[in-house]
Amino acid sequence: MKKVLFILLSLTFILSAPVFAADPELVVYSARKEHLVKEVFETYEKETGVKIKYITGKAAVLLQKILSEGSSTPADILLTVDAGNLWHAAQKGVLAPVESQILANNIPSHYRDPENRWFGLSIRARTLVYNTDRVTPDELNSYADLADKTWKNRLLLRTSKKVYNQSLVAMLMAESGKDQTLDTIKGWVANLAAPPFSSDTKVLEAIAAGQGDVGVVNTYYYGRLMKKNPDLPLGIFWADQKTGGVHVNVSGAGIVTHSKNKARAAAFLEWLTTPDVQKIFADANMEYPVNKGVVPHAMVKGWGDFKESTLNLAQAGRLQADAIRLMDMAGYK
Ligand code: FE
Repeated sequence: MKKVLFILLSLTFILSAPVFAADPELVVYSARKEHLVKEVFETYEKETGVKIKYITGKAAVLLQKILSEGSSTPADILLTVDAGNLWHAAQKGVLAPVESQILANNIPSHYRDPENRWFGLSIRARTLVYNTDRVTPDELNSYADLADKTWKNRLLLRTSKKVYNQSLVAMLMAESGKDQTLDTIKGWVANLAAPPFSSDTKVLEAIAAGQGDVGVVNTYYYGRLMKKNPDLPLGIFWADQKTGGVHVNVSGAGIVTHSKNKARAAAFLEWLTTPDVQKIFADANMEYPVNKGVVPHAMVKGWGDFKESTLNLAQAGRLQADAIRLMDMAGYK
């Protein structure tokens, strides 16, 4: 009997020993693409010895995965793009609040959840882009102005199915109210030069080709395209500078409710907001660092300074369903 017990105990020790010896790790579910996060994760491993394991996928798929895994999820952090997606994850209860003075100091308050369940890590600006052969900047003003008759058959947009546009419209609603935003969207639809495109890049290419004169895109798509083809006749215009400011959104993250490594995950989030890391994280996608002490990539900086909207991005989630209904009412496909 004693011998059996001894064997059992030894076996238990052998089986469990590697677990005790294993390096600390964190599991990240990332809707941000691998090439945009790899360097940051590897840097963290080198600096701290904490291994970052990750999977990448679409935001909705990763959220569903966390929900279906429930309390047995291996995920510690959900990293995704667009405040609308972060808000949804928080609503579903999969993100735990984090109290951190470092996060509060490094991230302006409109880029994080008022209940501290998600935090913006990089900023993307969604603004106007125009054909420089056909439009001069003084003809442009605001998102709402694109509804004016002067833009008849000249406007190009991405599909209303994309969360970026749902968030943009939600934020316009938060700023100007439902009625005024409905008028704006109706005007946009009436001014379209072509049916909505499936991507921001296609919008940019069509503007460059003269299929339309002006559109609304995230600036990093402009950056990517101009890097490849600097001679394209495309220019950025900062919308709403006389009013509420450019519509901005974030890529961001939160700690998974059922994470078994919450303190370690919080330390990782804090590290992501520190200046050196912010530089790598934002520059990888030509976005803006959320930490205002960090200078953007030289090319991004070259697009000039702008006033941004300071409405809390939780509005993008809160008003998302209303925004979708409103775009539907306006006939925006
Ligand atoms: Fe994108």
